Amino acid sequence: MSVCFPALPQAHDLPADASAFAPTGDPLWMMIDNEFTPLREHEFESLFSVSNGYLGNRSSISFGTPMASSTLFIAGVFDAASPFGLPELVALPVWRMLSQGIGSDPIAVEKLAIKEHRRMLDMRQGMFRRMLRFSDDDGRIARINYLRLASLADRHLLLQSMLYVPENYSGPAKVRSGFLTPEVLTGELGFSRATGRDTPFGPVLEIEGRTHAGMVIAFAAAVRLSLAFPALLEPKAKRTIGNMDELMEWEAEAGKTYRVDWLQTCYTSRDTGHPAQAALAHLEKLLQEGARPALERHIVAWSRRWQTADAVIEGDEQAQRAIRFACYHLISAANPEDEHVSIGAKALTGPVYKGHVFWDTEIFLLPFYALTDPAAARALLMYRFHTLAQARERARKYGCKGALYAWESADTGADVTPPYSITPVGEVVAVLTGAQAHHISADVAYAVWQYWQSSGDDEFLCNAGGEILIETARFWASRGEIEDDGFYHIRKVIGPDEYHESVDDNAYTNWMAQWNLECACAVVRMFEERWPQHWDWLMQRIRLGAEEAERWRAIAGRMYTGIHPGSDVIEQFQGYFDLREIDLAQFAPRSLPIDVILGRERTQGGKIIKQADVLMLLYLLWERIPAAVREACFRYYEPRTEHGSSLSPAIHALLAARLGDEEMALRYFRQAREIDLADNMGNAFGGVHIAALGGIWQALVLGFAGLRIGEEGLVFMPHCPAGWRSIGFPLLWRGCRLQAKIEPATLEIDAIDGAALPVSVGSTEKILLEPGWKSRWEQHQGEWKEVAREPR
Ligand code: BGC
Repeated sequence: MSVCFPALPQAHDLPADASAFAPTGDPLWMMIDNEFTPLREHEFESLFSVSNGYLGNRSSISFGTPMASSTLFIAGVFDAASPFGLPELVALPVWRMLSQGIGSDPIAVEKLAIKEHRRMLDMRQGMFRRMLRFSDDDGRIARINYLRLASLADRHLLLQSMLYVPENYSGPAKVRSGFLTPEVLTGELGFSRATGRDTPFGPVLEIEGRTHAGMVIAFAAAVRLSLAFPALLEPKAKRTIGNMDELMEWEAEAGKTYRVDWLQTCYTSRDTGHPAQAALAHLEKLLQEGARPALERHIVAWSRRWQTADAVIEGDEQAQRAIRFACYHLISAANPEDEHVSIGAKALTGPVYKGHVFWDTEIFLLPFYALTDPAAARALLMYRFHTLAQARERARKYGCKGALYAWESADTGADVTPPYSITPVGEVVAVLTGAQAHHISADVAYAVWQYWQSSGDDEFLCNAGGEILIETARFWASRGEIEDDGFYHIRKVIGPDEYHESVDDNAYTNWMAQWNLECACAVVRMFEERWPQHWDWLMQRIRLGAEEAERWRAIAGRMYTGIHPGSDVIEQFQGYFDLREIDLAQFAPRSLPIDVILGRERTQGGKIIKQADVLMLLYLLWERIPAAVREACFRYYEPRTEHGSSLSPAIHALLAARLGDEEMALRYFRQAREIDLADNMGNAFGGVHIAALGGIWQALVLGFAGLRIGEEGLVFMPHCPAGWRSIGFPLLWRGCRLQAKIEPATLEIDAIDGAALPVSVGSTEKILLEPGWKSRWEQHQGEWKEVAREPR
């Protein structure tokens, strides 16, 4: 993407009514594309998507053109249309400008002479913006200033607004708006019932569709025309309502600024028994006050949200924009108000992976939410709690006890992993992750514990999280066996490295299972001690006896860990060390994944791995792994990892930073951020890589700042790389709101308000920082020391 620093129009360049049309002035909050490359349209649609966790809209250009597909997704709205009958997120229609015209001709965007075109993601205000100046064959010049948002203040609202200035001509102007999109015509949802309705606030269009499973999706939509200055004056327009569209015609005068607002409200039968009525009533309320207050509320909601999320990197503008881009999409993806949906691998920005939820959410996204928006983290984990019944059923299916979560999960929590996939060279291959990637259960458990540690949400632990921890531990206690060698083995699994299937004792799986079993024991003990009454109730409900927890402890103690005498490198799975060495360097540069180049068989017989696997352990179970083992594993596996998954580079950045290899950390940080921003995997058209974006945030906060979270407080181990002047970010930890700022060899922690904060740096003693106090630490000859503590 070409990112530049143009002089952006300021509020005073625009009519008074239109200040919201002024982009954020600071270019470090903007992603800007100055080119108009129709072939890259789908990539930009993904990157510049607007979303609020309830709905997400790909930001295609607003005129109807075959190059664009302005799909709308609503979280939880799945339909089983794929060849395998698996649910996928439904592509829904958007109420939008289909064409604009002067005289009798609609403007075909391909035929215009574009004089200026700029599209922007305004991350601070949570908006997509487009500025366009163009002329037609007759030399008529017009200017358009457009914005689109999925309201963060009102999750059922998608709002688009446009300022339109005919610069050098007067005459009849036309705007045709509609729901008419290829998806509506070819889709199977039967979006046929378009009703034009006259309301006290002008005409409104309503449409309703239904999934195969009977879920109803209803939209109400309206378009409004006004003169932007003087405000609120409605020019006389003729309106013709057609089948799913509306034509608005008026006499435009040269030099005047016209404003068009498109409002679309969305409800489904997941939200209410009467989605159509709800959508209409909501729209009427919005029309009564006009689009401006809705726009302002959205801007305020984003500015509040940034207060607990904005990460600042001084000294590297590309890195600064990249971390904001990551936070922008992470904020956009979550809906703390809905605990029956989770975040898919592309969030609500694209169709790839069908909206399915993977371990990405718990391991790659959850830390961001737990530490910046605990309500969102809780809602995501509650989705796993509500899908426990399916997870229990799945464990039974594999002859196990407890709960085995789905590798790919959608609306119900049933496993929806496709049985086959087609490789980039057209080969049909069986997908075994659904049957073997069992580590997902420990990943969910890990996220539960992490959320509880950082939030102190005992209510959640008692009523939901504890049960998840116990049921997943039960699964692990039944999934393997203590064999003749005296070790507990878990056979026939796939770890994070999906190139090696049906392996025995994948280290990631076994270590995480061990952690899960031990953590569940600790929870049982804690419940007994702290909430005995509740514990009695829970024990009866899930039929758990004290001896069962003892068994978990015994199994954990016997877990096969892949550590061999005399070596510090944990073996990724049994037999991995005997595989063939393949030097990745000989294939550089590559545009295809290595399994496609080598073929599946050769890949499986070699040591090349798809993504961080043992290395995930170093990150997640850092304290459990001795320093020498961490270093040895990193140096062994890093050169053998090909990063065929977008999840991998950010974790390498995080670990390299923690291990003090700042140069390598920066290299991986760049690779991670270029996954979307330079489309370095060539698939950004299908939606943003939300787990990689979560990974970027983790690389900064948990890697470069070296933060580790425990029940007893926070531990920092900063590594500010050369070239960065500082790193700063806010965090929420157990009711305490704090701001951290790291400069080379210094750290400042500002406990803004809330509870007292136990914190240490490196291996120092923990201090208790009272709210309203600031603490400053310095590093001398490798040792950190608190040098000042004062009121803020
Ligand atoms: C990765 C998985 C990941 C999935 C969805 C796959 O390519 O190997 O680890 O969960 O993509 O992002």
